[in-house]
Amino acid sequence: MDKLYKSTRGGQTPIDFYNAILQGIASDGGLLVPDFAFEKKDLHALLKLDYVDLATEVISAFTPDGTKEEIRALAKEAYASGLFDEGVVPLKKAGGLYVAELFHGQTAAFKDMALSLLPHFMTYSLKKKGENREVMILAATSGDTGKAALEGFKDVPGTTIKVFYPIDGVSNIQKQQMVTTTGNNVEVVGIHGNFDDAQRAVKEAFASAKLKALCEEHNVFLSSANSINIGRLIPQIVYYFHSYLTLVRDGTIELGHQVNFTVPSGNFGNCLAGWIAKQMGLPVHRFIVASNKNNILTDFFKTGEYDARREFYKTNAPAMDILVSSNLERLVYFMVNGDTAKVKSFMDELNKDGIYRIDEETLKTIQDQFSAGFLSEEEVLETIKTVYVDHGYLLDTHTAVGYGVYEEYFRNTGDTTPTVLLSTASPYKFPESVYEALTGKKEDVYQAIDDLHKLTAVEIPYPLKGIKDRKVLHKGVIDKEEILDFVAKRIEEL
Ligand SMILES: *Cc1c(COP(=O)(O)O)cnc(C)c1O
Repeated sequence: MDKLYKSTRGGQTPIDFYNAILQGIASDGGLLVPDFAFEKKDLHALLKLDYVDLATEVISAFTPDGTKEEIRALAKEAYASGLFDEGVVPLKKAGGLYVAELFHGQTAAFKDMALSLLPHFMTYSLKKKGENREVMILAATSGDTGKAALEGFKDVPGTTIKVFYPIDGVSNIQKQQMVTTTGNNVEVVGIHGNFDDAQRAVKEAFASAKLKALCEEHNVFLSSANSINIGRLIPQIVYYFHSYLTLVRDGTIELGHQVNFTVPSGNFGNCLAGWIAKQMGLPVHRFIVASNKNNILTDFFKTGEYDARREFYKTNAPAMDILVSSNLERLVYFMVNGDTAKVKSFMDELNKDGIYRIDEETLKTIQDQFSAGFLSEEEVLETIKTVYVDHGYLLDTHTAVGYGVYEEYFRNTGDTTPTVLLSTASPYKFPESVYEALTGKKEDVYQAIDDLHKLTAVEIPYPLKGIKDRKVLHKGVIDKEEILDFVAKRIEEL
């Protein structure tokens, strides 16, 4: 049986894995989802596998039959070629929570988990399809996707990459990481606008007839490095299994016992990957969806209403400053049992009116598996301080959201299921906020890194060492309305 991918909105003929990777987004504006049943995994058989072999088992459930050894080779490149330290995803303890550290890759944030592999998926798929066109990757970023995609795609033959970031909406470190990227096929552009504006423009670029015609003329096609690309989601399923199996190997839980995951969420790609792991047989009791002051997901999970007509806040957890959470569309698709007409009508409503509401029955199905909550910026800082003082563990601002929301969940429910906190970034990516949380004092970004290190002795991740002195190579800034024209110009220049 062929494993095909179809649009959540039903308007595209299903395509295979390679085309799904290359295309990035469905042609009708929907997101690509598996059109086949999730493969159930035998946990016992996975128990002894290292990260690469585990990734191979999980990922090949989504790739064409007979490709397992090819996937193993790609997984080796991504996870066993020196890009990650500390065994890819180490599991630590902080208070009552087990912390899965997803930030040991080459940009010190969880986006590396998928973006170390996506470029390999891309070149692999180009080869499988005998594709001779160049692929232009467009990425909108709230800070972390940009750098992880740049590192992943830089100097990869057959690809060029354009990254759009909100000029005032990312941390100083995130910005410095991006604008200092070397490589002959990369370009980083600041935009006047927020992440949602950038993401919308990129989605529009994929749908644009004018760009499509230009692409044909110049022998190039567009693809996405955002979590709208199914190639971002699939590698993220692996670390849910890995975290669980680590707890079993440590003797913390018995094989088959349930756990919870608390997930700092924005575009909802991380949490959705966990839900897919559950469909593949991982024993998960609940997912706790954690948001910052941009709490649109909290409201959705509590009321079934997705209302994007609200103020956008810039917070101290900027990678989660998002109002249009793309991957929620995939969750809704699964929760309405694949009724694409229903998904399409919700998304049409969202585009037209800025709001949609799911029915009570669907909401109940969702609430049976997901809880949700949010933290204010002050609560983020308080959580960082308390967890450090009480447990000696240093959280970044995003991971603190996951921690704090879990605490509230625990107070409300008394649920004693062992819970894994997904840690999405190193504290050194947001050093000003973390330093302020611990000391009450504000400091300049690089001073804060040094002083945080002196204060806590927490290791500075290798990608951030010496970052201050790197040369700024990308200075372009455009308006959000200019993104499409900008892409058109770059295609013409090819
Ligand atoms: C991207 C990101 C998130 C949000 O992840 P989603 O998959 O978009 O929900 C949370 N924290 C950090 C540090 C991130 O970079």
